[in-house]
Amino acid sequence: MPKRDYYEVLGVPKNAGEEELKKAYRKLAMKYHPDKNPGDKEAEESFKEASEAYEVLRDKEKRDLYDRFGHEGLQGTGFRGFGGFEDIFSSFGDIFEDFFGFGGKRQRNRARSGNDLRYDLELSLEEAFSGKEEEIVFHRWEKCESCQGSGVAAGHEPAVCSTCQGRGQVARSQGFFQISTTCPSCHGEGRIITHPCLDCRGVGKVKVKREITVKIPAGVDTGSRLRLRGEGEPGEFGGPPGDLFVVIRLEPHDFFTREGDHLLCEIPISFVQAALGAKIEIPVLGQDGGKEFDIPAGTQPGDILTISGEGMPTLRKDERGDLFTKITVKIPKKLTPRQKEILAEFAELEESKRSKKLKGVWHKMKMQ
Ligand SMILES: [Zn+2]
Ligand SMILES: [Zn+2]
Repeated sequence: MPKRDYYEVLGVPKNAGEEELKKAYRKLAMKYHPDKNPGDKEAEESFKEASEAYEVLRDKEKRDLYDRFGHEGLQGTGFRGFGGFEDIFSSFGDIFEDFFGFGGKRQRNRARSGNDLRYDLELSLEEAFSGKEEEIVFHRWEKCESCQGSGVAAGHEPAVCSTCQGRGQVARSQGFFQISTTCPSCHGEGRIITHPCLDCRGVGKVKVKREITVKIPAGVDTGSRLRLRGEGEPGEFGGPPGDLFVVIRLEPHDFFTREGDHLLCEIPISFVQAALGAKIEIPVLGQDGGKEFDIPAGTQPGDILTISGEGMPTLRKDERGDLFTKITVKIPKKLTPRQKEILAEFAELEESKRSKKLKGVWHKMKMQ
């Protein structure tokens, strides 16, 4: 589509002065401003077109080039018009404020995604081990259905704020400068709700209780965050809703300590089991009563028995960590007479074993 003449776009004569240009642009910008025409593509184009025309004509150098060579004349300057509203607002931000206090208003009415929400969930180690479905209940703001989010009672319209004439900002002079500030009467809205919706008291949103079922995968740990897309608060002005983050915390466990995907525990055995070796039952997750494992003969206090594949499930792979069992050895405090007898005999044997060994050493020394 060929570009329209910039003077034609703004509807001003070729000799229009600075003030006339500004006035003409202001009129068009007000009419086609995206805040006033949400989703209207034609208005969007007109807004961009007018902004581009004004951007060129207000600049003496660009205007000269344009007057002499038309649209081609600007190509060498690197001027390409505007890509989007962001460009326009960043170039003209001061002007919008200057014109009608759009600086603040624009930001408020631009599509904005809803806030994310956080839900803290405490789980036992067993629950984290097997994963589960958890019903969670939380509150979030939702659009008030009675007034469709407008905050205005049915059958009424908001009144234009008389303090700022709907601009949302008021100008205040300070020395040479004019400063725009948010209108104190309407807090920048430009409108005043005279008849607020009774359901939301004019806020336009209501706090709603929400219940959803969350599927918690096996293997979650303290600090794991589950993201539920779109379950946060609703967006504004067409923006997407926020997300809900379920943040996991594990309760401490009586028997197991978790380290990443591995589990640690301590198992006491008797000194006889340590010396002779034994089959003992060790509790493992996911199985009632635990499993039997072999303790080798001659196990020392503090030895670690590694049981592979009996730790926590890994979150992303179909694997499990290991279980590290630290062996402690109990020394009996009370013995029956018979036990004492046996141990005394054991001690004698130990003694003769030692003296035999010593004799052997003496013998060797004599031979030399
Ligand atoms: Zn309402
Ligand atoms: Zn106002």
